[in-house]
Amino acid sequence: MIAEAPVVVPANELNPWISAETRFNQAATLLGIDDGMRKMLSTPTRELTVAIPVLLDDGRLEVFTGYRVQHSIARGPAKGGIRFAPDVSLDEVRALSSWMTWKCAVVNIPYGGAKGGVICDPSIMSDGELERLTRRYTSAIIEMIGPEIDIPAPDLGTNERMMAWIMDTYSMHVRQATATAVVTGKPVSLGGSKGRAEATGRGCMIVCQQALAKLGKAPSEAEVIIQGFGNVGGTSARLMAKAGFKIVSIVEWDGAVYNAHGLDIEKLMQHRRETGSIVDFAGAENIDKDEALTLECDILLPAAKENVITSRNAAKIRAKVICEGANGPTTPAADPILRENNVFIIPDILANAGGVSVSYFEWVQDRMGYFWNEELVIQRLEEIMVTAFHDVVNYAEKHKVDNRTAANMLGLDRVISAIKLRGLYA
Ligand code: GLU
Repeated sequence: MIAEAPVVVPANELNPWISAETRFNQAATLLGIDDGMRKMLSTPTRELTVAIPVLLDDGRLEVFTGYRVQHSIARGPAKGGIRFAPDVSLDEVRALSSWMTWKCAVVNIPYGGAKGGVICDPSIMSDGELERLTRRYTSAIIEMIGPEIDIPAPDLGTNERMMAWIMDTYSMHVRQATATAVVTGKPVSLGGSKGRAEATGRGCMIVCQQALAKLGKAPSEAEVIIQGFGNVGGTSARLMAKAGFKIVSIVEWDGAVYNAHGLDIEKLMQHRRETGSIVDFAGAENIDKDEALTLECDILLPAAKENVITSRNAAKIRAKVICEGANGPTTPAADPILRENNVFIIPDILANAGGVSVSYFEWVQDRMGYFWNEELVIQRLEEIMVTAFHDVVNYAEKHKVDNRTAANMLGLDRVISAIKLRGLYA
């Protein structure tokens, strides 16, 4: 028998900026956007690359590379997280910044899109090294950020402590006490918002509930597979399990666990805290992580990184709904395959917009200096997510396109109408 050749995914398919451009062009063509506007929106407004010298604990001096890209400022100040990861690249940051533009437009909050990143491995750095890196990076991009200019937030590899350091560094530079509105995702005791830490996961749950209602299914009948068990995947799992969904599998970088009756998420979290991994959990069986993604289920929730569903595995996916908790988990080459198989996609720029929506609430509260209780945050988040879900699904039905294309067209349409209303400054 001839062995099956491994399917190699072309490098271009895995370049997030090429993916972003491909999807942008598809939406622009369907909307009949002219060349000039296309050029404007496929070119980021501002990009900065910085060298960040940091003194390591062992006395060596290391120089890290960092980026901040503002894709668009048409609808408001630029907004988007900062990623600390070894595989950060300018193309990735560009793509993520453009997705922030469309995301903020889809949920109709008054922001443009931005993203930052530093090439580093935070898992092997000490607290002191991370603090020096965060502060020096902040000072390197300081002219680009500000409450009315560009407001960073957490993303992969960054957390609320780093947001506090950004706030402090910026405040000292501008000679203010606590310029809280310069960054979101801060600790609640330092100008953060209640409900921000859970917001992305909660948003995913809300859109999954809406999708199930549309498909006529109750959460208690829904089997869910979640890939990623960090802030987004872990919170989605916890909240969804509590709301009655059956989480049958969690998939991580080092393995996957499965229980047909539903996993005990709190116990799995405790197991990971104790052992450093989800594998070998007493309440489940270990399964292959690639195969876990292709198991039959109601909802597949990729909540880690880009390029998880590609031309290599899209045909094997047997989920009825894909809720994209991560940014860019599905490549454009996988789209037609999933469409052919009638998978109901809740695209990233809708599904994971709960995070930036509560960032918006945080910024509003910081500017007011008056803070809301958690109930109000959750209620307003629900309003935003439910409205955006129906805006996208109705747009898709009206224009006879899939949900992803509808979200891209809706976002693009809203950005272009802002540009037209403002006109060009010359
Ligand atoms: N990094 C998150 C995202 O990709 C949150 C961004 C924000 O809150 O500004 O949506």
